[in-house]
Amino acid sequence: SDIDRYFDALIRDIPDFPKPGVLFKDITPLLADHDAFTATVQALAAAGRDESGATVVDKVIGMEARGFILAAPVALALGVGFVPVRKAGKLPSATYAVSYELEYAQATLEMHTDALEAGDRVLLVDDVLATGGTAAATQKLVGYAGATVQALAVLMELSFLHGREVLGQTPLLALRTL
Ligand code: IMP
Repeated sequence: SDIDRYFDALIRDIPDFPKPGVLFKDITPLLADHDAFTATVQALAAAGRDESGATVVDKVIGMEARGFILAAPVALALGVGFVPVRKAGKLPSATYAVSYELEYAQATLEMHTDALEAGDRVLLVDDVLATGGTAAATQKLVGYAGATVQALAVLMELSFLHGREVLGQTPLLALRTL
């Protein structure tokens, strides 16, 4: 497909970034290509539509930082608003917070308490699903607001890290599985 060709040509592997032993998937060449970026956004947006093409979500959440770049145009494509989930201390108003374990540390994600309404259906968007820690923490934030996660859409799933297993029943759209 077009997506496969764009991904092959425009996502590059950077060894030992941000630390030794990590093979980092760099999506910046894809973002810089208008046709590839457009096709990618349209493919992600399908996770927020039903079979007839109607939008079935009320908000799109992007997770800091590359999630923002993808989620904002997905929200516009679906005709709904965008909500940021950010690292601790970045959001200015009252927040919900969820802390989770990283390999050697802890991370905290926050969302404004008034960003969602109870009953909202939300699409989560990020670049990479790795261990699923980020996605699981974001699901909790959505739950605190009384809203529900309709699906998670990502460019790449690193299946050997089993992130899918921490998502529970939430549908996952991964444009590529590695
Ligand atoms: P997780 O919480 O372990 O699932 O990690 C997912 C988060 O880490 C996402 O927000 C990604 O942006 C980031 N991430 C992990 N691995 C990569 C990678 O190889 N390239 C780009 N981002 C990555």
